[in-house]
Amino acid sequence: LPEPELEALQHEDVARLLPVPRGESDKYRRGVVGVVAGSQRYPGAAVLAVGGALRGGAGAVRYVGPAGDAVIGRYPETLVSAGPPAKAGRVQAWVIGPGLGDDHLARQSVDEVLACDVPVLIDADALRLADRERVRARRAPTLLTPHAGEAAALLDVAREEVERARLSHVRRLAAAYRATVLLKGSTTLVAEEGAPARVNPTGTAWLATAGSGDVLSGLTGSLLAAGLSARDAGSVGAYLHGLAARHTRHPFGAHEIADRVPYVWHSVH
Ligand code: AMP
Ligand code: MG
Repeated sequence: LPEPELEALQHEDVARLLPVPRGESDKYRRGVVGVVAGSQRYPGAAVLAVGGALRGGAGAVRYVGPAGDAVIGRYPETLVSAGPPAKAGRVQAWVIGPGLGDDHLARQSVDEVLACDVPVLIDADALRLADRERVRARRAPTLLTPHAGEAAALLDVAREEVERARLSHVRRLAAAYRATVLLKGSTTLVAEEGAPARVNPTGTAWLATAGSGDVLSGLTGSLLAAGLSARDAGSVGAYLHGLAARHTRHPFGAHEIADRVPYVWHSVH
């Protein structure tokens, strides 16, 4: 039989993949996720990414960047440091990019995180700053999470072209970067060479709101830190994120998605 080109996670698959602590767990065994996000200009992106990360199953969230005060003000449980990431403590996975900007510290942070031998999720501004050859040379998993515009820029094609053929473009990107790629938008796809691509069955167009992708990156990075593969973390992250917004028929702020993840988790598990 030919391999299926596309698959979708079912409710039971997600339930089985959720990282649930065992009796002998402690916060370090559950995994520490490092979040490198935010800037003087966009401190909120850091808060949203950390908000997602706190709901993804890691045992601790370490925030590295200039928005530590804003992050602590909203989430006092976060471990914060000003950076760069190489000076922060150990993590089991990094998330880098939301609201990061592209100054010297941002560039240095991307280079340092790519040099770490742990899974890395690259989103938003960090997608532009991540050197393709350095990503290809990594041994630990890399997960890229572009929307169509960001994917188009990485492939040097027009955004409309990506929108017209989302599956072939997400595949091309996975091959070009030798990475797992989660392409966001009206249908979210997760692609990796040598495996069927996954299409996310949850979600709603109400997710098209500022900061929503920042929550997804933190949530998904937390699943990576908790031990899921890049392909599973991407598809479970998108599933929970979509479910958290699914039954809304009204506008909402992205921070509300993060706030709703625990209820969604409860309904799946
Ligand atoms: P970002 O563009 O980084 O803020 O991410 C936007 C988030 O909203 C991603 O999770 C997208 O998959 C989701 N999203 C955006 N537009 C739509 C849409 N039309 N239908 C469903 N989800 C969407
Ligand atoms: Mg974004």
